[in-house]
Amino acid sequence: MKPPVFDYIAADTVEAALAALASAGADAKLIAGGQSLMPMLNFRLARPTLLIDINRIPGLDGIRVDGDRVRVGALVRHHKLETSTEIAEHLPVVHEAMAHVAHLAIRNRGTIGGSLSHADPAAELPMMAVLLDAELTIRSARGTRVEKAADFFVDALTTTLAPDEMMCEIAFARTKPGTGWGFEEFARRDGDFALAAASALLRIEGGRIAEPRIALMGVGVTPLRATAAEALLAGQAPDAELFQKAAEAVRAAIEPNSDLHASADYRRHLAGVLTERVLTAAAQRAGVQT
Ligand code: FAD
Repeated sequence: MKPPVFDYIAADTVEAALAALASAGADAKLIAGGQSLMPMLNFRLARPTLLIDINRIPGLDGIRVDGDRVRVGALVRHHKLETSTEIAEHLPVVHEAMAHVAHLAIRNRGTIGGSLSHADPAAELPMMAVLLDAELTIRSARGTRVEKAADFFVDALTTTLAPDEMMCEIAFARTKPGTGWGFEEFARRDGDFALAAASALLRIEGGRIAEPRIALMGVGVTPLRATAAEALLAGQAPDAELFQKAAEAVRAAIEPNSDLHASADYRRHLAGVLTERVLTAAAQRAGVQT
């Protein structure tokens, strides 16, 4: 299929992109990697009259460690995240997750800003943003705001982004030394969107779990934190029975949808299995055998 007719401009600066967004309003769309927007245009699910290409804007494709944050520019491609030594060292769970995003050809073009803004409920980077307490820097001609990832995702394919806003930077909480992590997803074929996925971070202090974080995707309209399971784990000694209870807490807390790929019951079952696995992996990486 072919896209509807649109005008096209390539912005050289963030300010130029923001000015174009401000004057065109809801009729304009930014285009980054084009890996989600082009299919939407071809299927006529989006009909912008103006595309503003942000690929040539300098300074939005860097990865920088800054104190307890890792700052990633919105134009950083998925493949750069997958191969970055900074990401592997300071955000190892992201490094692991990236190999599961689509296929290499798509990872070569797709950007982190595009993935978070598109907000597919089964996309890995939104789940990573929620797991790693990301702060999103969002600009418009009206000013700059910083929003927590936990508040950003509103519904499937829906965020708090206004039509005149552009995401410029994503600042993840750097994973502290000694923190164990786990990432697991289930997809029918390599490169497909997952039916469900889970991720976790755990620290073990004096034999007890400190600061547990669990995030899930594919089991709700947005990525989710498993707060009831986290509360159950905090301060406890890690073992297989505890992780089973956490998995049950996850199953009780979620309300997955049924679709042609999987039933709600199957997704609920998967979420529990994957949660148990990521907790076990995280505990092992934190130095505890369960
Ligand atoms: P674009 O397609 O350019 O834009 C997407 C949306 O975001 C548009 O609405 C655009 O206006 C907006 N946008 C882009 N950048 C910004 C910005 N900086 N600020 C504000 N708005 C912005 N993704 C996964 O996570 N996991 C998968 O398994 C997966 N499988 C895929 C399989 C296929 C066959 C395809 C085609 C895609 C798949 N994707 C998957 C999606 C892919 O990761 C996309 O690259 C990503 O979701 C969008 O990034 P993009 O840079 O291509 O954004």
